[in-house]
Amino acid sequence: MASKNKNDNKKSNKLYLIIIVALLLIAGIILIFMYQGQKAKEKEVTYDQLYQDIIDKKVEKIEMTIGGSSVKIKYKDSDDEKTTNINSLQPFMEFVNAQLEENPDFEVDLKTPNKLMTIFENVFNFLPTILLVILIFMIFKMQGIGEKSKVYGENEENNTGVKFKDVAGLDEEKNELIEIVDFLKNPKKFQSMGAKIPKGILLYGKPGTGKTLIAKAIAGEANVPFISMSGSEFIEMFAGLGASRVRKLFEKAKKIAPCIVFIDEIDAIGSRRTSNSGAESENNQTLNQLLVEMDGFESNETIIVLAATNRPEMLDKALLRPGRFDRQVTIPAPDLLGREDILKLYTKDKKLANDVDLKEIAGDTAGFTGAELSNLLNEAAILATRNKHKVIEKSDIEAAVKKITVGLEKHNRVISEKDKKLTAYHEAGHAVVSKFLETQDNVKEVSIIPRGLAGGYTMYKTNEDKYYISKTELEEKMIALLGGRAAEKIALNDISTGASNDIEVATGIARDMITVYGMSNSLGPISLKVDEPYELQIFGENITDEVGVQVKQLVDDAYIKAQKLLLDHIDILHVVAQTLLEKETISEEEFNSFFTE
Ligand code: ADP
Ligand code: ZN
Repeated sequence: MASKNKNDNKKSNKLYLIIIVALLLIAGIILIFMYQGQKAKEKEVTYDQLYQDIIDKKVEKIEMTIGGSSVKIKYKDSDDEKTTNINSLQPFMEFVNAQLEENPDFEVDLKTPNKLMTIFENVFNFLPTILLVILIFMIFKMQGIGEKSKVYGENEENNTGVKFKDVAGLDEEKNELIEIVDFLKNPKKFQSMGAKIPKGILLYGKPGTGKTLIAKAIAGEANVPFISMSGSEFIEMFAGLGASRVRKLFEKAKKIAPCIVFIDEIDAIGSRRTSNSGAESENNQTLNQLLVEMDGFESNETIIVLAATNRPEMLDKALLRPGRFDRQVTIPAPDLLGREDILKLYTKDKKLANDVDLKEIAGDTAGFTGAELSNLLNEAAILATRNKHKVIEKSDIEAAVKKITVGLEKHNRVISEKDKKLTAYHEAGHAVVSKFLETQDNVKEVSIIPRGLAGGYTMYKTNEDKYYISKTELEEKMIALLGGRAAEKIALNDISTGASNDIEVATGIARDMITVYGMSNSLGPISLKVDEPYELQIFGENITDEVGVQVKQLVDDAYIKAQKLLLDHIDILHVVAQTLLEKETISEEEFNSFFTE
């Protein structure tokens, strides 16, 4: 993503230039207005004044143009010409004719309009407006900076320099994509066999799992250029530009083929077409253009379009039809071995203490993406430097893990005794309840030191990556989550807002159990997860009501079980909470020791 910054820089340089030009233009416009106003004021005579002056015989000559709106006046006592604006010439002419009879010594010059002169005058009068239009035009242009030679927001790398060996883990995914490399290198071989190579491949996966990296690696391995653009950049800014950007991106690709076109965040343009209003219709136009482009190039043009998204369910189905993005590869968050591989890759150039065990760190970082792991090691290096360690020590890495998972310690936040007590019981509640739940992870650390947004935290040891989660496990997870609230209620006979996140997560689990995993007794294995609210209507009100009843039942049960567990072990709850109040943090060993006595 470093290249993106470079592009941003270029963009902002140009932006400065445009802003300066715009300011100069505005200054110019203001000056012209002021100059014209000044000039007009100096030389202007009011209509009434002119009448009076003619009657008073001060005027030597007046000059009018048929169809014009101003009159030039030459006074007897002055060399300067003055002007008066007149709305309607007819009554004035009548008045002047009457005056002429009485006073023949003043002259009237009635001119037929000189076309060229009128045009010139008009141009001059409209100059400020013209400048304004130019200014607005430039601002519009600015939105499409570089569109002439380059598509806005687009990045191009002739050689990404990334190879498959730079992508750790993801072995199966690399295997699946390696044939794309072969094809880009040697398209004739495939064509002569009559093989159809996919034009578009969708990469599904959370942000930071390495989708961009793997796309670059394909380009790097095949030694072809890599053009990329983010879906959100297509649709931002002014209406109508999205579609033209898509067109230009593909024009470019055709010129430099064979190449890889990478569209990040494709859900931003490719989300389901809905109504025809405003931003959505802009989105639709862009999506339609993308479909046209995908259909428009032949598969022998050796352009491979890779697109990334973490919300596959949002995509318009039209994108997935044959000949478009008909191939999908899921890029998962790394498993235990994958994480170890990634850690190995990113510690190659770092000095590590002997006690650092990458396998162990991999075990402590379940759910971390490649980007998060690389960030973790970077944090650890920063902490090591700050702590004046010669090499990165185990403690630096552990501190970095905590910083990333639960946020930074907030040492100087002032906490009242009452809040501390509440937090102590809340966290003790989570920890104690978990200890009695078979399926739940072991407690690694409990603390009432605020971190990030949380007043305290309970950290668990997650040592196994799980692919399936059982119903019991989900139920127990809810009990552990509600253990915090239950402890507040039992020990302090009051409840707080501190449990809001726990409750949100627990409710989400219950809802998914019923609507996604089909785990309710009364509704059975039925998927009630719908994309649009109206789709629920097919189930009828009885079923949607039942969903609510079942979700509530699950959460209520978990809350009751959490309270029962804590009442059964109230002594331990008090001990853990007291210890937390004294020491603020309890380690795994100390926590476990409370249960053996
Ligand atoms: P995505 O496109 O999926 O959001 P990126 O490819 O931009 O993620 O990943 C961000 C960064 O994270 C990469 O530049 C790389 O440093 C690191 N990274 C992510 N996954 C991996 C991986 N499997 N192997 C090595 N580095 C990775
Ligand atoms: Zn909690």
